[in-house]
Amino acid sequence: ISAQDRAILTLYDDAMHFYHYLLLNTAVGDAALAYLHRRGLDDSTIDTYMLGYAPAGDALFQYFKEKNIDYQLLRDSELFIEWDDGSLHDRFVDRVLFTIRNQSGAPIAFSGRRMSQDDSVAKYMNSPESSIFDKSNELFNLDLAKGSIRKTKSVILFEGFMDVIAAFQTGVTNGVASMGTSLTQKQVQRLGRMAQGITIAYDADTAGQAASLRALNLIEQNSAAKPQILHIPDGLDPDEYVRQKGVEAFQQVLKHNLEDPVAFSLRYFRQDYNLQNQNDIFNYLEQVLPVVAGVKEPLVRQTYLKRLADEFDVSLDGLEEQLRHLLLQKT
Ligand code: ATP
Ligand code: MN
Ligand code: MN
Ligand code: MN
Repeated sequence: ISAQDRAILTLYDDAMHFYHYLLLNTAVGDAALAYLHRRGLDDSTIDTYMLGYAPAGDALFQYFKEKNIDYQLLRDSELFIEWDDGSLHDRFVDRVLFTIRNQSGAPIAFSGRRMSQDDSVAKYMNSPESSIFDKSNELFNLDLAKGSIRKTKSVILFEGFMDVIAAFQTGVTNGVASMGTSLTQKQVQRLGRMAQGITIAYDADTAGQAASLRALNLIEQNSAAKPQILHIPDGLDPDEYVRQKGVEAFQQVLKHNLEDPVAFSLRYFRQDYNLQNQNDIFNYLEQVLPVVAGVKEPLVRQTYLKRLADEFDVSLDGLEEQLRHLLLQKT
């Protein structure tokens, strides 16, 4: 690591403490603190994650200027945006701040969430990539979660910061998130080296379910870890679920709503069909039988076939014959 990068790391660490201070100890931070409390975060969680508030104006720039920090360093830090006239201005304005730390716990980037409902403004804004922040390689919360991941040999992959933090607050400490970008091969390989099981706990909305299928394939192709999918009921995301249904209910979901890849696929592909319609049923079966055919253990395969036969009132013999046909085609 270069002297320049070390200096930038120090700036991020300073900035984190500055934003955290504004959140907790100044009137400008009041609304942001109330926002976080309203979202169910307690003070100890706010401290653990060093959550912050970036106010309107150029508070951070002023702060560094008073400390006589080198202008070129500030420019290179990506903490500011440069206007056409060459002046620097705070990148994060009127946003609640989440600090992204590397695996060693050093702050390397921020993500700011708007507090208003205004859809014309991006909900989250992230620091751009920089010499200290390689987005495709980092995972939010890996520093705090790594101990628990190694101990339990398992990791939970969430979509968002708030999901990770809400879970952490309930005592589920092995969660990480890939920060808004879709999961990368590098991230999967990294998790695969640390854990034997990877639980995908994405949002239950359409986008989240599609991302789950993609993550599932990525994990199967790039790690030896066993993937599972957590099915959050009622179309909620994990953070909403904890908030609305409580800690106990969330623990129950974590225990009982785990799907293996086949169970997930059987559920996932249902959305494409009207399963009241006989023709759609056949098309659905045609789509999912290859998935069942991929199951190596005969007994497990049989169980899924039986389930399908029962649900759609078709004969097990018929399904088995169709499956044998598929298996023959594959070899
Ligand atoms: P919240 O609970 O605060 O509303 P969320 O985590 O549920 O946020 P989602 O819309 O589910 O938000 O998006 C998941 C993740 O994607 C976010 O945590 C964030 O990292 C990222 N993200 C969402 N919107 C944006 C955006 N406009 N720009 C960049 N990243 C985004
Ligand atoms: Mn989402
Ligand atoms: Mn979400
Ligand atoms: Mn959410």
